Amino acid sequence: MKKKVFIIGSGFSSLSAACYLSKSGYDVHVFEKNDMLGGRASQFKAEGFTFDMGPSWYWMPDVFERFFNDFGKSAKDFYKMKKLNPAYRVIFDKNNQIQIGDNIDNISDQFEKIEKGSGKKLKIFLKESKENYELAVTNMLYKMPGRSILELINSQTILKVNLFFSNIKKDIEKRFKDSRLRSVLQFPVLFLGAKPSKTPAFYNFMNYADFGLGTWQPKNGFYDVVMAMISIAKENGVSFNNNAEVDKIEIKNKKVKGIHVNGEFKECDIIISGADYHHTESLIDVKFRQYSESYWNNRTWSPSSLLFYIGLNKKLNNLNHHNLFFDTDFDKHADEIYTSPKWPTDPLFYLNITSKTYEHTAPKGHENCFILIPISTNLKDSEALREKYFKIVLDRIKKVTGNEIKKNIVYKRSFCVSDFKETYNSFGGNAYGLANTLMQTALLRPKLQSKKVKKLYFSGQLTVPGPGVPPAIVSGKLVSDMIINNERAF
Ligand SMILES: Cc1cc2nc3c(=O)[nH]c(=O)nc-3n(C[C@H](O)[C@H](O)[C@H](O)COP(=O)(O)OP(=O)(O)OC[C@H]3O[C@@H](n4cnc5c(N)ncnc54)[C@H](O)[C@@H]3O)c2cc1C
Repeated sequence: MKKKVFIIGSGFSSLSAACYLSKSGYDVHVFEKNDMLGGRASQFKAEGFTFDMGPSWYWMPDVFERFFNDFGKSAKDFYKMKKLNPAYRVIFDKNNQIQIGDNIDNISDQFEKIEKGSGKKLKIFLKESKENYELAVTNMLYKMPGRSILELINSQTILKVNLFFSNIKKDIEKRFKDSRLRSVLQFPVLFLGAKPSKTPAFYNFMNYADFGLGTWQPKNGFYDVVMAMISIAKENGVSFNNNAEVDKIEIKNKKVKGIHVNGEFKECDIIISGADYHHTESLIDVKFRQYSESYWNNRTWSPSSLLFYIGLNKKLNNLNHHNLFFDTDFDKHADEIYTSPKWPTDPLFYLNITSKTYEHTAPKGHENCFILIPISTNLKDSEALREKYFKIVLDRIKKVTGNEIKKNIVYKRSFCVSDFKETYNSFGGNAYGLANTLMQTALLRPKLQSKKVKKLYFSGQLTVPGPGVPPAIVSGKLVSDMIINNERAF
């Protein structure tokens, strides 16, 4: 008889695990607390606008492609995509902006215009960054379930050991003088959830992901990827249960027995939870938990976010699909996120306009906007605070780009710390899990397999490899491989 696997949550790691395990002959059932599948990558439609709720930067297309190839498919079998050119715009002030092109030659030329000699230096930096990408992503990522230090050590990484003990900020400041170029090059590590000064220099492979592999956009947004993965899972017999919040994991003789969901007990052989790790451990008795409250409180969390989904009844000028407003002091904002957590004084923010690339995401003549302000986790949020920051952001957009939008808002929804907690059971309202600092890399991250309960597994952005959609997809594969190997051994 097929072994029955229950998966808690339907984020990318859960969908990935569901696909791999069902293909390997397991009887897989997914339980998602919300109405919509996809976890933090949910989508909603309102007043003719289609909004992605979470991820919007489609980076590392090779990781997506490798996933689809494992099922005899390609991303293009499911969705259309465009490579963005410009990939994004970085705004320092009204007359001081950089638009990042879609290839290294073009970007080097732009660098050269800003700082003499930096074009050549960029090419050297990206050559190293590409080597690290090939080492880390293409070779190691899929072989690192985070069990032992030995996973990190091989003939190539040993030569790069210094890059684990230096940080990105130092590495970039050594090579480039212009503060704008430094900011642009430090931006990609923000996806890893920590400050550049706390992120090992080895992670500069994100710069190759950015400039070398480019920024892509699926035609109907990130939800195209969710739909594609659901379709593969269904083809392999996975059942999906939405509005199904698991409220207890039953354990007998130190082994999982089943789950309690919507007032019913359901029995199974194996459980994977792709829900936030801390929340999953709250579903089991204290004696079976692996990590204490102080462990979780002392982690470096990725930021939470204040988000606004906005529909406008006019087109915006002087803006691209992705726009980074780096017109204030980044270090101060970073300190207010990580060092002395509080609502930011003068935050950097990100403005996404999907209708600049795909007009059908908004009604004709309208614009589909999404604003993200990174903030510390665990902040108390209120309607008044959200409004205060909304006004700050609108004023800055007007001042720096000349676009007045206050009177053109035909749809608006906000999402913040309390929504992250309530909607996803997120610890402290984190947006994308645990940061990839040196002390939270590989085997130092929460484990994929419980040491205290047999057949209980974890996946997702709090585990290995870390935050972001591509790592979440890899995490689903790593946990599936682990289960398949463990079950073979029995
Ligand atoms: C605003 C935002 C912007 C982002 N931008 C990007 C980006 O541009 N590019 C990128 O690559 N990544 C981005 N990310 C990160 C990326 O979205 C995540 O890393 C990834 O989607 C996480 O997937 P996951 O599998 O870990 O789980 P999640 O997506 O967190 O899914 C966990 C699921 O478990 C469910 N759940 C919780 N408790 C229970 C329960 N008791 N019973 C049943 N279900 C439960 C939750 O409802 C949720 O659906 C962004 C994230 C956010 C929030």
